[in-house]
Amino acid sequence: MSRVAKIDENIYCPICGKHEHQVKLGKNKSGSQKYYCNDCKRYYTPVPKQHEYPEETRELAIEMLFSGSSGRQVNHTLGFNKANVYNWIKNEIINQQSAEKPLEDFWDF
Ligand SMILES: [Zn+2]
Repeated sequence: MSRVAKIDENIYCPICGKHEHQVKLGKNKSGSQKYYCNDCKRYYTPVPKQHEYPEETRELAIEMLFSGSSGRQVNHTLGFNKANVYNWIKNEIINQQSAEKPLEDFWDF
């Protein structure tokens, strides 16, 4: 029985962009998974996914908050994780210095 080794993650070579022939090589010092591309013969460590929202989405959320939506409404509409969105909106509002009312008013959960 012959089975082609399957890569369990969506790994693409950052150099040639291929998904096939990517070999898992163990971890580097900081614990990230290393890979080897059999096509272009290069080693690489995939960039970990950022748990960030696209800038347009963030701007939209800020806009919604400033136009009177509650944090819960924003989360619901944009599908945010409330802890994440709370942290960066807090930062954004502090940065913008333009909140007309305390942030606490936005959060009723
Ligand atoms: Zn490659």
